[in-house]
Amino acid sequence: RTLVLNADYSPLSACHPVRGALLLRENKAHEVESTDILLFSEKLSLRAPAVIVLTQYQSIGKPRRTGNSTRPRILQRDACVCQYCGGVARTVDHVIPKSDGGRDTWTNMVACCAKCNARKGALSLKQSGMRLLREPLEP
Ligand SMILES: [Zn+2]
Repeated sequence: RTLVLNADYSPLSACHPVRGALLLRENKAHEVESTDILLFSEKLSLRAPAVIVLTQYQSIGKPRRTGNSTRPRILQRDACVCQYCGGVARTVDHVIPKSDGGRDTWTNMVACCAKCNARKGALSLKQSGMRLLREPLEP
């Protein structure tokens, strides 16, 4: 599956790699991470994207937060290092998932690679069995 990120780099959904590749072709998304998997259709072969980010912000029912998004600043604080596995992070994870009332705060958001983000999903640390490399702090 392809992880789809919203324009602000928050995980939005997962889609079939073919759909992800089509979004890229239609310039509706940019590729963040690719895979070596080739997808074939009648006319073309495409490389399956692992992570894509939408070019247009997709409102998901809730009103869009105003002001500067904290996500790029979280990635900056954590130097784009995944706070779970130490890999290269291009997404941001909510330590306490938003679905559990987690907020967009410095202490609840960490840089996270796509793999860990997909693995953790909307689970809490305890449920996912994952550990933070260090406690997220407000800079
Ligand atoms: Zn990771």
